[in-house]
Formats: sequence, structure tokens, C-alpha cells
Amino acid sequence: MSLRNARVLVVGMGGLGAPLCLALGRAGVGTLGLVDDDAVERSNLHRQILFRDGDVGTSKIAAGQRALSELFPDLRFEAHETRLLPDNAVELVSRYDLVVEGSDNFATKFLTADACAIAARPVVHGAAVRWVGTALAVPPSGGPCYRCLFEDLPRDHVPNCAEAGVMGPVVGLAGALQADLALRWLEGAREVAGELVTVDGRAEPSRMVRRRRIPRRSDCSLCGVLGDSKSNITAIDRGRYIMADACLEG
Ligand SMILES: [Zn+2]
Repeated sequence: MSLRNARVLVVGMGGLGAPLCLALGRAGVGTLGLVDDDAVERSNLHRQILFRDGDVGTSKIAAGQRALSELFPDLRFEAHETRLLPDNAVELVSRYDLVVEGSDNFATKFLTADACAIAARPVVHGAAVRWVGTALAVPPSGGPCYRCLFEDLPRDHVPNCAEAGVMGPVVGLAGALQADLALRWLEGAREVAGELVTVDGRAEPSRMVRRRRIPRRSDCSLCGVLGDSKSNITAIDRGRYIMADACLEG
């Protein structure tokens, strides 16, 4: 597929969404769908690099679209000023060739994973907390998937951003790594499926970025083949995505 014809949905316009939108726009992706319902806060500005002082208080979708359209006049935008929700997730991801997820909470991450599997769309997940950022490419079917790595939503308290902290440059790197995986997939590199890239801002330079392939878990509830078929996830059940927000930067 030519990048000009590609339609990419970006879930979360935060610290990950900003650098990856810049990279996708710069690479020549034709259409970006943007999903977010937050407003820009002053505390976002150090890492959410699309936004500037004058954007504080306005929606991230509007501010992001303004910044990106100045840089990339030919880029088409589809603004979805909402959260990804159990009621809209499958329909929304179905409209795109690829989904890039940089949300800030586990509920949205698992919902994105499940919706993309149900709609048979490839997805690149991203996360960053403290000094470590990750990007994971998941194929449209067959796994390995996000649930092979993290079985289900955490039951215990997970520190929020204020408690855990997040380093701006590490978030930027994680977003760039997501864009790299997304662009390679769009250009036909199917070997990226299952690739987990980790950046550790405190590691020695030669070990700062590591790549490994995660295995498909045969008893995975989303892509597994051994599990009881009745327990496998084949539809969105809203009760599955309820939890307090956690700190995984978006
Ligand atoms: Zn899986």
C-alpha cells in the first residue's frame, strides 16, 4: 500500500501521539484519524510536543490538527473527539488500515487490542513510564497480541502519572519507535508482527534500545488456540474495561 493512500487511526493525542503523528505526517501518510477527548494542560507541554502555551485549555484534537496542518498541508484529518469506548471501538478501528495506540490507561489499551483483533486490524501499542518506553506491533490476526504480553487489566492499584513520573524524552522516543513499526508494517514488512521494542533512558547507550519478538501464548484469551473457545474474546463486553486510570503515558 502506498503511504499516500494509507489510513491510520491514532488513539490518544498525548506524549506518544504527538511524535508519532509528526513522523507519520513527515513520511507521507495520507489520512490520520485522531481519537482523544482531553484538553491541553500546561503540565503536558514538556512532552506533548505538538502543543504550545496558547493551546492550554483547548482540545488536543483541535490543537493537534492545527499544528499538523501547518506542517503537512496535504495531510487529511478525521477528528474523533471522544474516548475509544466499548460502544464505538470496533466500528472506529474498522475504518482504518492500521491503528496506533498511545493511550494513557490500561482500559483503553486492552479495549484497543480487543477491538483490533475483532475487526482484524493491525495495531501498534505504545507506553512509557518513568525511564522506560515500549512499542509493540500486533498483526491483524493470528497473534501474538497485547494479551499475550499482559493477560488482563491489572487488579491492583497502579501508580498514576503524578506518582510514577514520566520522562519527556523517553516518551518521544517511544512514539518514534511506534511510528517506525507502523511505517514498516504499511510498507509491507510483515516480519515486524510480534516485535517488542524497548527503550531504557538509563541504560548504556549501546543497550538503550532493545528489540525482541514476543511469543504467541497458546492459551491467550484473544489470539490463543488452546483455550476453551467459549472463554475467548470475540465481542466487546463493556464490563471488561473498568478500572482506575493508570500511568502509562499518552
Ligand atoms: Zn494473544
